[in-house]
Amino acid sequence: MESRRILVTGGAGFLGSHLCERLLAAGHEVLCVDNFFTGQRRNVHHLLDHNNFELLRHDITFPLFVEVDEIYNLACPASPIHYQFDPVQTTKTSVIGAINMLGLAKRLKVKVFQASTSEVYGDPSVHPQPESYWGNVNPLGPRACYDEGKRCAETLFFDYHRQHRLKIKVVRIFNTYGPRMHARDGRVVSNFIVQALKGEPITIYGEGQQTRSFCYVDDLIGGFTALMDSPDDIVGPINIGNPNEFTIRQLAEQVIDLTGSSSKLVFEPLPADDPKQRRPDISAAERLLGWGPTIQLREGLLRTIAYFDELLGEA
Ligand code: NAD
Ligand code: UDP
Repeated sequence: MESRRILVTGGAGFLGSHLCERLLAAGHEVLCVDNFFTGQRRNVHHLLDHNNFELLRHDITFPLFVEVDEIYNLACPASPIHYQFDPVQTTKTSVIGAINMLGLAKRLKVKVFQASTSEVYGDPSVHPQPESYWGNVNPLGPRACYDEGKRCAETLFFDYHRQHRLKIKVVRIFNTYGPRMHARDGRVVSNFIVQALKGEPITIYGEGQQTRSFCYVDDLIGGFTALMDSPDDIVGPINIGNPNEFTIRQLAEQVIDLTGSSSKLVFEPLPADDPKQRRPDISAAERLLGWGPTIQLREGLLRTIAYFDELLGEA
């Protein structure tokens, strides 16, 4: 395969750093752009000496003038506590950031990939969620800056595609976990593992009967590249995730089991608009990309626990 120069926005974040690694391993040049809001230099530290890797501090709500052959747009905080910290900036990152990246792709006439989210389905009344479901989103609630920002970004991608014939790829990512999640980013897998390893109470919001379907990061990144490299008429949106569904209480029990922790479960109030259930219908990804997850929760958790164990040991 020919080597390409690829821009990854949000490249110093959890998913972005794994994507940069995968693209470098495939022989591409990577320009990683990040404002380090939730990303960390340590996520890409091991790539800094790589001849084909370049790191640029930049906020994508401002225009970016670079020359690349392909763009992956991942920049946006993904954890509820982080995207709700400065909700106006979250919307700006999704919407103005998308406009800037689409404008760049249009000038360069290159393909652009958007990291959208299962949050576009809101608190879904259709289960599991196929791409054809329009969603059930509260446009005024605390999650709206993220959900509506991502929905508007999808609209922009499809309008650039129709209006300017831009090549687009839109993926809807379901809950993903793995090494390099931020230890304090508040997402459930990192929270539970860190709490279990420290012997602190495991904080279950609500009664823990809400469900999520957790995808291991390596599987997800395989889905990204499969979509990006697929024929131009496959534009998405396409769900990528692991359809195995668990209650949050089951997740807590499994983390306690795998860490051998003595942590106890504590129950805290459920945040506003917290979706009650979530599971991807991945039949489109299977049919169009030949993609499906291969790493199940137990194996993925063991790898993630090993990462946090080492991280906490360094602290
Ligand atoms: P993350 O917070 O680890 O990474 C986001 C990265 O974007 C960070 O490095 C952050 O510093 C950077 N960033 C934020 N605002 C920016 C801006 N204005 N300009 C430049 N950089 C900026 O989160 P993640 O889990 O790696 O998520 C990556 C993408 O995938 C996001 O777009 C997110 O919405 C999407 N996503 C992730 C999940 C998941 O489960 N991890 C689920 C659905 C969607
Ligand atoms: N959650 C929890 N305890 C925590 C963190 C999260 O019970 O310490 C719950 C949260 O209320 C939600 C689920 O776990 O129902 C997934 O939360 P996360 O923030 O990881 O992602 P999202 O809600 O965006 O799917």
